[in-house]
Amino acid sequence: MDELLKIKAFANREAIPIMQDEGCDFICDYILKNDVKTVLEIGTAIGYSSIRFANLKHDIHVTTIELDIERYTKANQNFKLCKLEDKITSIHDDALTHDFSEQFDLIFIDAAKAQYIKFFEKYKNNLTKNGVIISDNLSFHGMVDDLTLTHNYSTKKLVKKIQKYDEFLKTNEEFETEFFEIGDRISISRKKSVEN
Ligand code: SAH
Ligand code: MG
Repeated sequence: MDELLKIKAFANREAIPIMQDEGCDFICDYILKNDVKTVLEIGTAIGYSSIRFANLKHDIHVTTIELDIERYTKANQNFKLCKLEDKITSIHDDALTHDFSEQFDLIFIDAAKAQYIKFFEKYKNNLTKNGVIISDNLSFHGMVDDLTLTHNYSTKKLVKKIQKYDEFLKTNEEFETEFFEIGDRISISRKKSVEN
């Protein structure tokens, strides 16, 4: 699709951190294999991943939320260009405070890395019965495993937050998480089944 290539080129030019192909293909594959019908994406940027997801099947709906007004506006233009306005609900708001009443088969967290635990705790209530939460960038360019890779103070601080999220997932009593060395490391968390 020509439009997607243009969106990708725009993202590269403007240094907008859209998903890498490998990670995006992995999630697309999950959506198809698990018959996901509804996706909530936290962090639209300019709509690249939403478009990839929405294009997968005729009966999939993507809801996506973005805080930055310029990116939100650009994303809406891109959704129109791809004729996906009916399949993507685009919201301009802060995902930390926005309230969704609906439930989703897949929630994809791809926004501010320092807030991942907050997003997880908030949005776990919006999952359907077999719904999952997928998070991206858990290796953060290798720094989560080796903090000495950076000497930058604010990067170190951010990496420590991702390490905390990693720990939060690994020790979570309610959710079971699998990690995949795909792209920048992706996790899939699903509710543990309650045993009687
Ligand atoms: N999923 C996109 C990339 C998202 S980049 C893709 O692969 O195409 C992360 C985006 O999250 C940024 O555009 C940033 O503005 C947005 N973001 C960060 N904090 C947010 C918040 N609290 N609420 C909504 N969006 C947020
Ligand atoms: Mg990302």
